[in-house]
Amino acid sequence: MMLADSYGRVATDLRVSLTDRCNLRCTYCMPPEGLDWLPREEVLTSGEIARLLRIGVELLGIREVRFTGGEPLLRRDLVSIVASAASLTPRPEISLTTNGIGLTRRAADLREAGLDRINVSLDTLRSEVFRKLSRRDRLPDVLDGLSAAADAGLTPVKVNTVLMRGINDSEAPGLLRYCLERGYELRFIEQMPLDAQHGWSRTEMITADEIFGLLSSSFTLTPDEERARGAAPAETFLVDGGPVRVGVIASVTRPFCGACDRVRLTADGQVRNCLFAREESDLRSALRGGASDEEIAARWTAAVASKLPGHGINDPSFLQPDRPMSAIGG
Ligand code: SAM
Repeated sequence: MMLADSYGRVATDLRVSLTDRCNLRCTYCMPPEGLDWLPREEVLTSGEIARLLRIGVELLGIREVRFTGGEPLLRRDLVSIVASAASLTPRPEISLTTNGIGLTRRAADLREAGLDRINVSLDTLRSEVFRKLSRRDRLPDVLDGLSAAADAGLTPVKVNTVLMRGINDSEAPGLLRYCLERGYELRFIEQMPLDAQHGWSRTEMITADEIFGLLSSSFTLTPDEERARGAAPAETFLVDGGPVRVGVIASVTRPFCGACDRVRLTADGQVRNCLFAREESDLRSALRGGASDEEIAARWTAAVASKLPGHGINDPSFLQPDRPMSAIGG
């Protein structure tokens, strides 16, 4: 069985949200007071996640697993969840998207458990801006977490940056220089309409074209012909002739839905075909209701079969999904 949709795409990359909670309060993601978190009993246990991972990998052709959230490092059982993914056959590629807080203590154990790679989110190198943006004073923890990830061999260490007008856009060249000096791969992500406060606006968003402009004052960027993009969301560019690169994820201005190979599982066990999907399919009630592996696989297959051709952000009728990014799993 495969997770195929009716547009010829096959989902092989599973994004698993492990929690909707976060220890930061980034202004473009959630309000200062946080959100109404999922009740604990609705969040999948590590045993339930392990079972869905096994069904995904062994029955449905999942080949890459990325853990995200909310903040996945808030799960105390993260190491055992990673280990359960690493024990599967064929063994999937395993990666983690995190804000990096607490990585200094956990990077080596995660590596040992089978984590292959890491993406750390970093929007600024200025403490004052970090404090304003994330409403927490944790920049040193994030930077230390990044270097701990590199020391533990969680490479290539990737850094994700969302640029916002008048807030951190002037830092684009500085962030790239910082990453190049340390061997991290930086990817700029266009801000998407997924914030809990529904404050996103197209004119405020920094577009991919603007990102090139901001970087071009300090670097020469050329398209990276060698690296086939495939289903990767990032378009990559050689910096000053290479071999170092920078990526841009232009979800809004250059959508890449036609090559999408992703499927998502929320922390409460719902399958979603897209960050912007308005529908979910409930695997948790099947899991808890005594369904067999084959029944769960069939439900999952049916969910992916109905995947829409595109995210629709640019359609006049676009409606932001009910759940914000932190609850879907970014
Ligand atoms: N807590 C983890 C982290 O910080 O990476 C994982 C979850 S977080 C939602 C994943 C990524 O989504 C982060 O890089 C964050 O900056 C990004 N993000 C959050 N809201 C976004 C938005 N509205 N548009 C684009 N990216 C967003």
